[in-house]
Amino acid sequence: GEEQVLTVPKTPQEVRNISRSFNQLLDRQRLSLKREQQFVTDASHELRTPLAAIRGHVNLIKRRGEKHPEVIPTSLAYIDKESKRMELLVEQLLTLGRLETLAEAEAFDLSLLIQQTLDELSVMMNQELNVQIKAGIMIKGQKEHFYQITRNLVENAMKYTETSGTITVSLDSNEHQLVFSVEDSGVGIPDEDKAKVFERFYRVDQSRSSEIAGTGIGLAIVKGLVEHYHGTITITDAQPKGTCFTVSFSKKIENEDFFI
Ligand code: ADP
Repeated sequence: GEEQVLTVPKTPQEVRNISRSFNQLLDRQRLSLKREQQFVTDASHELRTPLAAIRGHVNLIKRRGEKHPEVIPTSLAYIDKESKRMELLVEQLLTLGRLETLAEAEAFDLSLLIQQTLDELSVMMNQELNVQIKAGIMIKGQKEHFYQITRNLVENAMKYTETSGTITVSLDSNEHQLVFSVEDSGVGIPDEDKAKVFERFYRVDQSRSSEIAGTGIGLAIVKGLVEHYHGTITITDAQPKGTCFTVSFSKKIENEDFFI
């Protein structure tokens, strides 16, 4: 950040300024502590729900399994489903934690990283994939972060788009900014949910989403990472249907060679 020069405050105004900065600092710390506490509360709640279901079905089998063996397959199916959900949650929470560790930023070819991520995902993709990537876009940052952004957005496009649909991934740049977008022809996101999908654990229309495995953490990770690099992420409707996620980063003036 900015360089700070320490001087002894002389006037009452200077003392007031210092005391104000100090209070602002305290407020910021309280806010981040509150957010961390909220996160722990939310995460515990999310883990407790499948755990309660598992325990409920274990008890059911214990109490009634012998006399009514027909309850066993249904209960086992629930236990199977809920434990898989917990596994996914724990895995994503660990990813979230790992991303906050500080690694060195390095210069790398973003075009190549996105192409490699697509090669990895295309094996599991049932949709038609369109790729429009401008070659040789260099940026400075942590590779893992940009891998996570790409992977989460493309995996969502795969999850929320029917088999016959299309996914278009593009990367472009001009002298001011670079723009990365993932567009699909899938189910779409209603306007009232567009802002909320970035919140941790939020999923659109639980009943619809529950058919598809997910935790509601992916987009919170993406948004956190994009903002870490001072970028923006927006959602627009694709035509005639579907969703388009657009991520933009502006070029840093003092470093002409790299974006971000
Ligand atoms: P998850 O997919 O694990 O539920 P995300 O945080 O990645 O969690 O997404 C949050 C919600 O946003 C999803 O549950 C889904 O309802 C909606 N969503 C995300 N991406 C798309 C998309 N490409 N098309 C339609 N809905 C989407």
